[in-house]
Amino acid sequence: MKYKSTRGNKESKSSAEAILKGIAKDKGLFVPDTFPKIDKKLEEMIYMDYKEVAFYILKKFLGDFSDEDLKDAIEKAYDEKFETKEIAPIVKAGDAYFLELYHGKTLAFKDMALSILPHLLTKAAKKLGEDKKVVILAATSGDTGKAALEGFSDVDQTEIIVFYPDNGVSEIQKRQMITQEGENTHVVAIKGNFDDAQSGVKKIFNDDGLGKEMENHGFVFSSANSINIGRLVPQVVYYVYTYIELLKRGDIKSGEKINFVVPTGNFGNILAGYYAKKMGLPIHKLICASNKNNVLYDFLNTGVYDINREFFMTNSPSMDILISSNLERLLYELSDHDEDVVNTLMNQLDGETKKYTITPNMKENLQGFYGGFTTEEETIATIQTVYDESKYVLDTHTAVAYKVYEQYKEESKDETKTVIVSTASPYKFTKSVIKGVVASTKEKNEFKLIEMLSKNTGLSIPEPIKNLDKKPILHDIKCEKDAMKDTVKEILHI
Ligand SMILES: *Cc1c(COP(=O)(O)O)cnc(C)c1O
Repeated sequence: MKYKSTRGNKESKSSAEAILKGIAKDKGLFVPDTFPKIDKKLEEMIYMDYKEVAFYILKKFLGDFSDEDLKDAIEKAYDEKFETKEIAPIVKAGDAYFLELYHGKTLAFKDMALSILPHLLTKAAKKLGEDKKVVILAATSGDTGKAALEGFSDVDQTEIIVFYPDNGVSEIQKRQMITQEGENTHVVAIKGNFDDAQSGVKKIFNDDGLGKEMENHGFVFSSANSINIGRLVPQVVYYVYTYIELLKRGDIKSGEKINFVVPTGNFGNILAGYYAKKMGLPIHKLICASNKNNVLYDFLNTGVYDINREFFMTNSPSMDILISSNLERLLYELSDHDEDVVNTLMNQLDGETKKYTITPNMKENLQGFYGGFTTEEETIATIQTVYDESKYVLDTHTAVAYKVYEQYKEESKDETKTVIVSTASPYKFTKSVIKGVVASTKEKNEFKLIEMLSKNTGLSIPEPIKNLDKKPILHDIKCEKDAMKDTVKEILHI
């Protein structure tokens, strides 16, 4: 299997090349040219643990890596860094299952892919004989940044530079990033929002002049954002794992379809679910949950993607995004791999109109998706209801997903068993979560709130944030959104 660009230049790359490059020359994203199929009976896989499922899936997508390399990467990624032995526990509460993807070091689902990406990337570099230092650039709405920093910290032959929106992340997210240790880590606050950070990073990647200069100084760029296919593939694993686990528990029958609800921002997580479906996993609906930034909801309902709209900062900040990069990969599938169509649509989005409309055929192919969104008030109210009814504590992103699930059920009367993909620990967004759990409080200090949340719910405070407020601040660079390139050059001394 090879990787091609969504935008049609005829580059055909191995998975190692695609991971190392991050983004294609024509600005497109790397996509598999054909989908591998799950060729084992799912009911025969019920004895596999998370790592074994990971090996099975990764091997299918990353065929040019040796078994030994893949196993080594998997062992190093999914170890005791995760607070639970299962890596991704599935909990039943209310009338849904919650797939808890937040037991890694940074308390968000980004750890699932970013704890393995550095290993895949360094192995790819070695395989390809790359002797330059790899500079990882990442834009973050809060969670990718910390997970990438954690993953790449002091990894040989790499530097990592993370850009986050100065006022667009939670206090805990910010603290996690600016206290990051590691000689090769760099954290920059930009005066702008996530879309500015993401566009800025893409611009740097596509700056040929800068690329040359970098090469002369012994550097190459790569990406830790979900535009990198090395982020997506490890995310396919937990969809398959969930299905197998429910089979094992006897909660579903062999072949029975299930739904997943995914709180969505950049469309990476839900796309991985779609890839799992393409591999043959019995999925009925992929339910895309958005917050007040409901551009995806509109798209799924009308076929029009239009970013001419106000950007809101909400209590689910990791989803405060207008340009969902990975939608480009979905367009490629919806159009049956028609690169010209993808190219045209992406040019319209990048150009003056800032919107595009998909063809009726493509719209037809959207049937397996459902889109919904919630307001901030509904998000808090949902945390409260779920807590009152089942003593289960949701973070704001997961609450968005649960609320959208309720809307979906109401509307469709669909009784299919459903898994809510839980993307963050409630402790990462305590300021908002506390409002749903404790009637009201005047306390503003986020670290006091963490203690309060724990006292009220009996939920223990995750190890990685226990002493976060006492850690020294190691990063304080700020820059204008137009000065990202200069900042990169300064950091690298070029
Ligand atoms: C990144 C993130 C999301 C959005 O995931 P995408 O893959 O960008 O769609 C949702 N919730 C949390 C907590 C996140 O960190």
